[in-house]
Amino acid sequence: MSDSKGFVEMENIFAKTMDKLGTETAFEVLARARALEAQGKEIVHLEIGEPDFDTPKNIIDAAVSALQSGYTHYTPASGLPLLKETIANYVKTHKNVDTNPEEVVVVPGGKPIMFYGIIATVNPGDEVIYPNPGFPIYESVIKFVGGVPVPIPLREENQFRLDVNELEGLITSKTKMLIINSPQNPTGGVLTKEDIMKIADLVRGKNILVLSDEIYDRMIYTDDKPLSIASLPGLKDWTIILDGFSKTYAMTGWRIGYGIMNKKIAEKITQLMVNSNSCTAAFTQMAAVEALTGPQDDVLEMVSQFKNRRDIMVDGLNAIDGVTCLRPKGAFYVFPNVSSFGKTSKEIADYLLLEAGVACLAGTSFGSYGEGYLRLSYANSVENIEKALSKMKEALSKLK
Ligand code: PLP
Repeated sequence: MSDSKGFVEMENIFAKTMDKLGTETAFEVLARARALEAQGKEIVHLEIGEPDFDTPKNIIDAAVSALQSGYTHYTPASGLPLLKETIANYVKTHKNVDTNPEEVVVVPGGKPIMFYGIIATVNPGDEVIYPNPGFPIYESVIKFVGGVPVPIPLREENQFRLDVNELEGLITSKTKMLIINSPQNPTGGVLTKEDIMKIADLVRGKNILVLSDEIYDRMIYTDDKPLSIASLPGLKDWTIILDGFSKTYAMTGWRIGYGIMNKKIAEKITQLMVNSNSCTAAFTQMAAVEALTGPQDDVLEMVSQFKNRRDIMVDGLNAIDGVTCLRPKGAFYVFPNVSSFGKTSKEIADYLLLEAGVACLAGTSFGSYGEGYLRLSYANSVENIEKALSKMKEALSKLK
Protein backbone atom coordinates (compact mmCIF):
# COMPACT_ATOMS: atom_id res chain seq x y z
CA MET A 1 0.00 0.00 0.00
CA SER A 2 1.46 3.36 -1.04
CA ASP A 3 1.68 6.22 1.44
CA SER A 4 -0.73 8.33 -0.55
CA LYS A 5 -3.30 5.53 -0.68
CA GLY A 6 -2.88 5.00 3.04
CA PHE A 7 -3.58 8.70 3.62
CA VAL A 8 -6.70 8.64 1.45
CA GLU A 9 -8.02 5.68 3.38
CA MET A 10 -7.27 7.45 6.65
CA GLU A 11 -9.29 10.49 5.49
CA ASN A 12 -12.28 8.22 5.05
CA ILE A 13 -12.27 6.64 8.46
CA PHE A 14 -13.80 9.58 10.32
CA ALA A 15 -17.41 9.73 11.44
CA LYS A 16 -19.52 12.29 9.54
CA THR A 17 -20.42 14.07 12.77
CA MET A 18 -16.76 15.08 13.20
CA ASP A 19 -17.24 17.50 10.27
CA LYS A 20 -19.66 19.46 12.46
CA LEU A 21 -17.28 19.91 15.38
CA GLY A 22 -15.52 23.27 15.66
CA THR A 23 -12.51 24.30 17.74
CA GLU A 24 -11.00 27.05 19.86
CA THR A 25 -8.73 29.36 17.87
CA ALA A 26 -6.79 30.36 20.99
CA PHE A 27 -4.91 27.08 20.89
CA GLU A 28 -4.10 27.49 17.17
CA VAL A 29 -2.79 31.02 17.66
CA LEU A 30 -0.76 29.84 20.65
CA ALA A 31 0.85 27.17 18.43
CA ARG A 32 1.65 29.76 15.71
CA ALA A 33 3.11 32.12 18.30
CA ARG A 34 5.24 29.32 19.78
CA ALA A 35 6.53 28.47 16.29
CA LEU A 36 7.59 32.10 15.80
CA GLU A 37 9.30 32.04 19.20
CA ALA A 38 11.18 28.93 18.15
CA GLN A 39 12.53 31.00 15.22
CA GLY A 40 13.82 33.57 17.72
CA LYS A 41 10.98 36.13 17.54
CA GLU A 42 9.85 37.75 20.81
CA ILE A 43 6.11 37.36 21.37
CA VAL A 44 3.84 38.80 24.06
CA HIS A 45 1.06 36.32 24.72
CA LEU A 46 -2.36 37.91 25.06
CA GLU A 47 -4.24 35.12 23.29
CA ILE A 48 -4.84 32.52 25.97
CA GLY A 49 -7.51 32.84 28.64
CA GLU A 50 -5.72 31.63 31.70
CA PRO A 51 -4.49 33.34 34.85
CA ASP A 52 -0.70 33.78 34.83
CA PHE A 53 -0.66 33.33 38.63
CA ASP A 54 0.35 30.06 40.24
CA THR A 55 -2.26 28.03 42.06
CA PRO A 56 -2.34 29.18 45.72
CA LYS A 57 0.02 27.20 47.95
CA ASN A 58 -2.64 25.90 50.35
CA ILE A 59 -4.38 24.21 47.39
CA ILE A 60 -1.16 22.62 46.12
CA ASP A 61 -0.36 21.40 49.64
CA ALA A 62 -3.83 19.86 49.92
CA ALA A 63 -3.29 17.96 46.65
CA VAL A 64 0.12 16.67 47.75
CA SER A 65 -1.24 15.58 51.08
CA ALA A 66 -4.22 13.88 49.36
CA LEU A 67 -1.85 11.95 47.09
CA GLN A 68 0.20 10.89 50.09
CA SER A 69 -2.85 9.73 51.99
CA GLY A 70 -4.21 7.47 49.31
CA TYR A 71 -6.45 9.62 47.10
CA THR A 72 -5.13 7.72 44.11
CA HIS A 73 -8.18 5.61 43.30
CA TYR A 74 -11.43 6.01 41.40
CA THR A 75 -14.05 8.14 43.10
CA PRO A 76 -17.82 8.02 42.50
CA ALA A 77 -18.42 9.21 38.91
CA SER A 78 -20.16 12.41 39.99
CA GLY A 79 -17.50 13.28 42.58
CA LEU A 80 -16.45 12.63 46.17
CA PRO A 81 -19.34 13.14 48.63
CA LEU A 82 -17.20 15.63 50.61
CA LEU A 83 -16.54 17.78 47.55
CA LYS A 84 -20.17 17.64 46.38
CA GLU A 85 -21.32 18.77 49.80
CA THR A 86 -18.69 21.53 49.89
CA ILE A 87 -19.74 22.73 46.43
CA ALA A 88 -23.44 22.66 47.35
CA ASN A 89 -22.72 24.79 50.44
CA TYR A 90 -20.58 27.21 48.41
CA VAL A 91 -23.28 27.57 45.76
CA LYS A 92 -25.92 28.19 48.43
CA THR A 93 -23.87 30.96 50.04
CA HIS A 94 -22.19 32.47 47.02
CA LYS A 95 -24.91 32.15 44.37
CA ASN A 96 -27.92 32.06 46.68
CA VAL A 97 -29.13 28.87 44.96
CA ASP A 98 -30.80 26.34 47.24
CA THR A 99 -29.10 23.16 46.09
CA ASN A 100 -27.86 19.88 47.58
CA PRO A 101 -25.11 17.33 46.79
CA GLU A 102 -27.43 15.24 44.57
CA GLU A 103 -27.58 18.18 42.18
CA VAL A 104 -23.80 18.53 41.89
CA VAL A 105 -21.72 16.75 39.24
CA VAL A 106 -17.94 17.16 39.43
CA VAL A 107 -16.19 16.94 36.05
CA PRO A 108 -12.68 17.58 34.64
CA GLY A 109 -13.01 21.34 34.00
CA GLY A 110 -15.90 23.63 33.24
CA LYS A 111 -16.00 22.64 29.57
CA PRO A 112 -17.40 19.12 30.08
CA ILE A 113 -20.55 20.64 31.59
CA MET A 114 -21.09 22.42 28.26
CA PHE A 115 -20.40 19.27 26.29
CA TYR A 116 -22.37 16.86 28.45
CA GLY A 117 -25.13 19.35 29.18
CA ILE A 118 -25.82 19.85 25.47
CA ILE A 119 -25.36 16.19 24.50
CA ALA A 120 -27.74 15.11 27.26
CA THR A 121 -30.58 17.47 26.36
CA VAL A 122 -30.44 18.79 22.77
CA ASN A 123 -32.00 16.73 19.97
CA PRO A 124 -31.40 17.24 16.23
CA GLY A 125 -33.53 20.20 15.12
CA ASP A 126 -33.78 21.74 18.60
CA GLU A 127 -32.87 25.42 18.66
CA VAL A 128 -30.24 26.70 21.07
CA ILE A 129 -29.78 30.43 21.57
CA TYR A 130 -26.22 31.40 22.44
CA PRO A 131 -24.17 34.61 22.70
CA ASN A 132 -22.25 35.81 19.64
CA PRO A 133 -19.47 36.82 20.07
CA GLY A 134 -19.21 34.03 22.62
CA PHE A 135 -17.17 31.06 23.76
CA PRO A 136 -16.71 29.06 20.52
CA ILE A 137 -17.37 25.68 22.06
CA TYR A 138 -21.08 26.47 22.54
CA GLU A 139 -21.72 26.68 18.80
CA SER A 140 -19.39 23.78 18.11
CA VAL A 141 -21.24 21.37 20.39
CA ILE A 142 -24.71 22.58 19.37
CA LYS A 143 -23.82 21.75 15.75
CA PHE A 144 -22.18 18.47 16.74
CA VAL A 145 -25.44 17.13 18.16
CA GLY A 146 -27.47 18.40 15.17
CA GLY A 147 -29.03 21.28 17.08
CA VAL A 148 -29.79 24.58 15.37
CA PRO A 149 -27.49 27.36 16.62
CA VAL A 150 -29.39 30.63 17.05
CA PRO A 151 -26.93 33.46 17.80
CA ILE A 152 -27.97 36.39 19.94
CA PRO A 153 -25.71 39.34 19.04
CA LEU A 154 -23.83 41.13 21.79
CA ARG A 155 -23.21 44.71 20.75
CA GLU A 156 -20.76 47.31 21.91
CA GLU A 157 -23.50 49.96 22.15
CA ASN A 158 -25.21 47.73 24.73
CA GLN A 159 -21.92 47.16 26.66
CA PHE A 160 -21.86 43.68 25.11
CA ARG A 161 -24.93 42.62 27.12
CA LEU A 162 -27.62 40.76 25.22
CA ASP A 163 -30.67 42.81 24.29
CA VAL A 164 -33.62 41.25 26.08
CA ASN A 165 -36.15 42.45 23.47
CA GLU A 166 -34.08 40.85 20.74
CA LEU A 167 -33.93 37.65 22.78
CA GLU A 168 -37.71 37.59 23.02
CA GLY A 169 -37.91 37.65 19.22
CA LEU A 170 -35.57 34.66 18.91
CA ILE A 171 -37.53 32.35 21.21
CA THR A 172 -39.73 29.90 19.29
CA SER A 173 -41.60 26.68 20.09
CA LYS A 174 -38.42 24.85 19.08
CA THR A 175 -36.14 26.65 21.55
CA LYS A 176 -34.69 23.98 23.81
CA MET A 177 -31.90 25.87 25.49
CA LEU A 178 -30.60 29.36 26.13
CA ILE A 179 -26.92 29.79 26.94
CA ILE A 180 -25.88 32.82 28.96
CA ASN A 181 -22.38 33.71 30.15
CA SER A 182 -21.75 36.54 32.61
CA PRO A 183 -19.09 37.88 33.08
CA GLN A 184 -18.48 37.07 29.48
CA ASN A 185 -15.72 35.67 27.34
CA PRO A 186 -14.62 37.34 25.02
CA THR A 187 -16.06 40.80 25.76
CA GLY A 188 -15.84 41.07 29.57
CA GLY A 189 -19.50 42.18 29.47
CA VAL A 190 -21.61 41.61 32.58
CA LEU A 191 -25.40 41.19 32.59
CA THR A 192 -27.16 43.46 35.07
CA LYS A 193 -29.54 42.12 37.73
CA GLU A 194 -32.40 43.59 35.70
CA ASP A 195 -31.19 41.79 32.55
CA ILE A 196 -31.12 38.45 34.39
CA MET A 197 -34.57 39.02 35.89
CA LYS A 198 -36.02 39.90 32.48
CA ILE A 199 -34.36 36.86 30.87
CA ALA A 200 -35.87 34.68 33.62
CA ASP A 201 -39.31 36.19 32.91
CA LEU A 202 -38.91 35.31 29.22
CA VAL A 203 -38.02 31.64 29.69
CA ARG A 204 -39.99 30.80 32.82
CA GLY A 205 -42.67 28.15 32.27
CA LYS A 206 -41.67 27.54 28.62
CA ASN A 207 -39.69 24.29 29.04
CA ILE A 208 -36.50 26.08 28.03
CA LEU A 209 -33.30 25.02 29.74
CA VAL A 210 -30.76 27.68 30.64
CA LEU A 211 -27.08 26.83 30.54
CA SER A 212 -25.64 29.53 32.78
CA ASP A 213 -21.87 29.72 32.38
CA GLU A 214 -20.72 31.38 35.60
CA ILE A 215 -17.04 30.47 35.41
CA TYR A 216 -15.95 34.13 35.77
CA ASP A 217 -18.43 35.12 38.48
CA ARG A 218 -15.71 35.90 41.04
CA MET A 219 -13.96 38.22 38.59
CA ILE A 220 -16.13 41.28 38.83
CA TYR A 221 -14.74 44.80 39.12
CA THR A 222 -17.80 46.56 40.48
CA ASP A 223 -19.47 46.36 43.88
CA ASP A 224 -22.44 44.48 42.38
CA LYS A 225 -22.70 40.88 43.49
CA PRO A 226 -23.49 38.63 40.51
CA LEU A 227 -27.00 37.22 40.32
CA SER A 228 -27.35 33.59 39.26
CA ILE A 229 -30.47 33.04 37.16
CA ALA A 230 -30.93 29.73 39.03
CA SER A 231 -31.67 31.71 42.21
CA LEU A 232 -34.84 33.22 40.70
CA PRO A 233 -38.28 31.65 41.26
CA GLY A 234 -39.05 28.71 38.97
CA LEU A 235 -35.64 28.70 37.31
CA LYS A 236 -33.58 26.37 39.48
CA ASP A 237 -34.82 23.11 37.97
CA TRP A 238 -34.44 24.52 34.48
CA THR A 239 -30.90 25.82 34.87
CA ILE A 240 -27.60 24.03 34.48
CA ILE A 241 -24.97 26.15 36.23
CA LEU A 242 -21.46 25.73 34.86
CA ASP A 243 -18.64 26.72 37.20
CA GLY A 244 -15.21 25.51 38.21
CA PHE A 245 -11.80 26.18 39.62
CA SER A 246 -9.73 27.00 36.50
CA LYS A 247 -10.10 30.76 36.52
CA THR A 248 -10.91 31.70 40.14
CA TYR A 249 -8.12 29.63 41.70
CA ALA A 250 -5.67 29.67 38.76
CA MET A 251 -6.14 25.92 38.29
CA THR A 252 -6.51 25.60 34.50
CA GLY A 253 -4.17 22.62 34.27
CA TRP A 254 -5.76 20.70 37.12
CA ARG A 255 -8.92 20.03 35.14
CA ILE A 256 -11.69 20.36 37.64
CA GLY A 257 -15.09 22.00 37.40
CA TYR A 258 -18.70 21.25 38.20
CA GLY A 259 -22.31 21.66 37.23
CA ILE A 260 -25.39 22.28 39.35
CA MET A 261 -28.60 20.95 37.83
CA ASN A 262 -31.76 19.13 38.81
CA LYS A 263 -31.31 15.55 39.98
CA LYS A 264 -32.67 14.00 36.76
CA ILE A 265 -30.21 15.90 34.56
CA ALA A 266 -27.43 15.17 37.07
CA GLU A 267 -28.07 11.45 36.65
CA LYS A 268 -27.71 11.72 32.86
CA ILE A 269 -24.52 13.75 33.09
CA THR A 270 -23.16 11.23 35.60
CA GLN A 271 -23.95 8.50 33.06
CA LEU A 272 -21.93 10.44 30.45
CA MET A 273 -19.07 10.62 32.98
CA VAL A 274 -19.27 6.84 33.52
CA ASN A 275 -19.05 6.40 29.75
CA SER A 276 -16.08 8.75 29.29
CA ASN A 277 -13.87 9.83 32.22
CA SER A 278 -15.14 7.46 34.93
CA CYS A 279 -14.42 10.25 37.41
CA THR A 280 -12.36 13.39 38.00
CA ALA A 281 -8.90 12.81 39.55
CA ALA A 282 -9.30 12.05 43.27
CA PHE A 283 -6.48 14.24 44.63
CA THR A 284 -7.63 17.15 42.44
CA GLN A 285 -11.03 16.87 44.08
CA MET A 286 -9.46 17.11 47.55
CA ALA A 287 -7.56 20.21 46.39
CA ALA A 288 -10.88 21.68 45.26
CA VAL A 289 -12.31 21.18 48.76
CA GLU A 290 -9.39 23.22 50.11
CA ALA A 291 -9.91 25.86 47.40
CA LEU A 292 -13.50 26.48 48.51
CA THR A 293 -13.01 26.17 52.26
CA GLY A 294 -9.49 27.59 52.75
CA PRO A 295 -8.44 31.25 52.87
CA GLN A 296 -9.62 33.34 49.93
CA ASP A 297 -6.93 36.04 50.19
CA ASP A 298 -5.12 34.89 47.05
CA VAL A 299 -8.33 35.12 45.02
CA LEU A 300 -8.95 38.66 46.25
CA GLU A 301 -5.37 39.60 45.45
CA MET A 302 -5.62 38.16 41.92
CA VAL A 303 -8.86 40.00 41.26
CA SER A 304 -7.37 43.26 42.49
CA GLN A 305 -4.36 42.80 40.21
CA PHE A 306 -6.62 41.95 37.25
CA LYS A 307 -8.53 45.17 37.86
CA ASN A 308 -5.34 47.18 37.80
CA ARG A 309 -4.18 45.45 34.60
CA ARG A 310 -7.57 46.00 33.00
CA ASP A 311 -7.24 49.73 33.55
CA ILE A 312 -3.71 49.82 32.13
CA MET A 313 -4.87 47.83 29.12
CA VAL A 314 -8.02 49.87 28.46
CA ASP A 315 -6.26 53.24 28.89
CA GLY A 316 -3.36 52.09 26.71
CA LEU A 317 -5.65 50.85 23.93
CA ASN A 318 -7.71 54.04 23.93
CA ALA A 319 -4.48 55.99 23.53
CA ILE A 320 -3.81 54.23 20.21
CA ASP A 321 -5.05 56.16 17.21
CA GLY A 322 -7.92 54.24 15.58
CA VAL A 323 -8.66 51.95 18.54
CA THR A 324 -11.55 52.34 21.00
CA CYS A 325 -12.11 50.07 23.96
CA LEU A 326 -14.88 49.77 26.55
CA ARG A 327 -13.87 49.19 30.17
CA PRO A 328 -15.23 45.70 30.88
CA LYS A 329 -16.79 45.00 34.26
CA GLY A 330 -15.65 41.38 34.55
CA ALA A 331 -13.50 38.41 33.43
CA PHE A 332 -9.96 39.17 32.17
CA TYR A 333 -10.48 40.13 28.54
CA VAL A 334 -10.86 43.35 26.60
CA PHE A 335 -12.61 43.55 23.23
CA PRO A 336 -11.32 46.68 21.49
CA ASN A 337 -12.92 48.03 18.32
CA VAL A 338 -10.40 48.14 15.47
CA SER A 339 -12.86 48.58 12.60
CA SER A 340 -11.43 52.02 11.72
CA PHE A 341 -8.42 50.36 10.05
CA GLY A 342 -10.62 49.03 7.23
CA LYS A 343 -9.30 45.50 7.58
CA THR A 344 -10.86 42.33 8.93
CA SER A 345 -10.20 41.39 12.55
CA LYS A 346 -8.30 38.34 11.34
CA GLU A 347 -6.05 40.50 9.15
CA ILE A 348 -5.32 42.80 12.08
CA ALA A 349 -4.66 39.92 14.49
CA ASP A 350 -2.29 38.29 11.96
CA TYR A 351 -0.58 41.62 11.32
CA LEU A 352 -0.06 42.21 15.06
CA LEU A 353 1.41 38.75 15.52
CA LEU A 354 3.88 39.08 12.65
CA GLU A 355 4.63 42.81 12.77
CA ALA A 356 4.41 43.58 16.50
CA GLY A 357 4.97 40.17 18.08
CA VAL A 358 1.68 40.49 19.96
CA ALA A 359 -0.48 37.36 19.95
CA CYS A 360 -4.18 38.09 20.27
CA LEU A 361 -7.38 36.74 18.76
CA ALA A 362 -9.64 38.06 16.01
CA GLY A 363 -13.12 38.90 17.30
CA THR A 364 -14.47 36.54 14.65
CA SER A 365 -12.88 33.60 16.50
CA PHE A 366 -15.92 34.07 18.74
CA GLY A 367 -18.53 34.33 15.99
CA SER A 368 -19.48 36.57 13.10
CA TYR A 369 -20.65 39.42 15.36
CA GLY A 370 -17.05 39.73 16.57
CA GLU A 371 -16.00 41.28 13.24
CA GLY A 372 -14.28 44.61 13.78
CA TYR A 373 -12.89 43.60 17.21
CA LEU A 374 -9.91 41.86 18.78
CA ARG A 375 -9.79 39.88 22.00
CA LEU A 376 -6.85 40.51 24.27
CA SER A 377 -6.38 38.73 27.57
CA TYR A 378 -4.90 40.81 30.36
CA ALA A 379 -4.01 37.76 32.41
CA ASN A 380 -0.39 38.75 31.96
CA SER A 381 2.13 40.89 33.86
CA VAL A 382 1.90 44.70 33.80
CA GLU A 383 5.33 44.74 32.20
CA ASN A 384 4.19 42.50 29.32
CA ILE A 385 0.93 44.41 28.90
CA GLU A 386 2.83 47.68 28.62
CA LYS A 387 5.27 46.14 26.16
CA ALA A 388 2.39 44.83 24.04
CA LEU A 389 0.66 48.21 24.08
CA SER A 390 3.72 50.08 22.87
CA LYS A 391 4.42 47.51 20.13
CA MET A 392 0.77 47.64 19.02
CA LYS A 393 0.80 51.43 18.96
CA GLU A 394 3.84 51.47 16.73
CA ALA A 395 2.60 48.75 14.37
CA LEU A 396 -0.94 50.14 14.07
CA SER A 397 0.34 53.65 13.33
CA LYS A 398 1.70 52.23 10.08
CA LEU A 399 -1.81 51.20 9.01
CA LYS A 400 -3.28 54.70 9.37
N1 PLP B 1 -16.61 28.88 29.95
C1 PLP B 1 -15.98 29.97 29.49
C2 PLP B 1 -16.78 31.17 29.13
C3 PLP B 1 -14.59 29.97 29.33
O1 PLP B 1 -13.98 31.08 28.88
C4 PLP B 1 -13.87 28.80 29.64
C5 PLP B 1 -12.42 28.72 29.45
O2 PLP B 1 -11.79 29.50 28.78
C6 PLP B 1 -14.57 27.69 30.11
C7 PLP B 1 -15.93 27.78 30.26
C8 PLP B 1 -13.89 26.38 30.40
O3 PLP B 1 -13.10 26.37 31.51
P1 PLP B 1 -12.26 25.08 31.91
O4 PLP B 1 -10.84 25.37 31.57
O5 PLP B 1 -12.49 24.92 33.38
O6 PLP B 1 -12.78 23.90 31.17
